[in-house]
Amino acid sequence: MEYARTNGAVILYDAAYEAYITEDLPHSIFEIEGAKECAIEFRSFSKNAGFTGTRCAFTVIPKELKVGEVSVASLWNRRHTTKFNGVPYIVQRGAEAVYSPEGKAQVRELVDFYMNNARIIREGLAQAGFSVSGGVNSPYVWLKVPEGMTSWDFFDELLDKANVVGTPGSGFGPSGEGYFRLTGFGTAEATAEAIERIKKVFGK
Ligand SMILES: *Cc1c(COP(=O)(O)O)cnc(C)c1O
Repeated sequence: MEYARTNGAVILYDAAYEAYITEDLPHSIFEIEGAKECAIEFRSFSKNAGFTGTRCAFTVIPKELKVGEVSVASLWNRRHTTKFNGVPYIVQRGAEAVYSPEGKAQVRELVDFYMNNARIIREGLAQAGFSVSGGVNSPYVWLKVPEGMTSWDFFDELLDKANVVGTPGSGFGPSGEGYFRLTGFGTAEATAEAIERIKKVFGK
């Protein structure tokens, strides 16, 4: 925030996994002092309410956010009203239901379900001797691939020997090389089975 404010930068903050935060962390960038002058936040219904196929999201652009004298919100409004026909009404009503008491309870249940998968992955990988991170405030778990392997070497070995697929860290940029991502977005059964296989192949 300090960097953005002193350098006139705008922070584009992606809050897609906000519902998966379990520790005492901000859920929105606007909880942080001064964010209104330098941040835009993206919100999605894809990961909290399973809207990945139906497509509904929103963008928060504070009135205070300016580039020079120009209000970013007015530019965005112009763009949006010219180039976008809007989310179908029925999908909007579905999104609205996410904020009802039943909707909130269902979101909680869904998130807890995936976070339990993430826990099973995290603990299982640690037992197999991997160095692990993540899976606490997001449904993804990262592991460090064995010494001497690239992310893609590990992908091949995991696929060939355990019949499990995951995401090579190198796809996220050079800093991801040597790391690998597994997801909690599976069934409980498939998650448990995958971890058993990984333990069998890679466990020490
Ligand atoms: C899934 C995902 C999104 C996409 O959200 P949509 O509303 O489905 O476009 C954005 N950011 C991250 C990090 C995601 O994983």
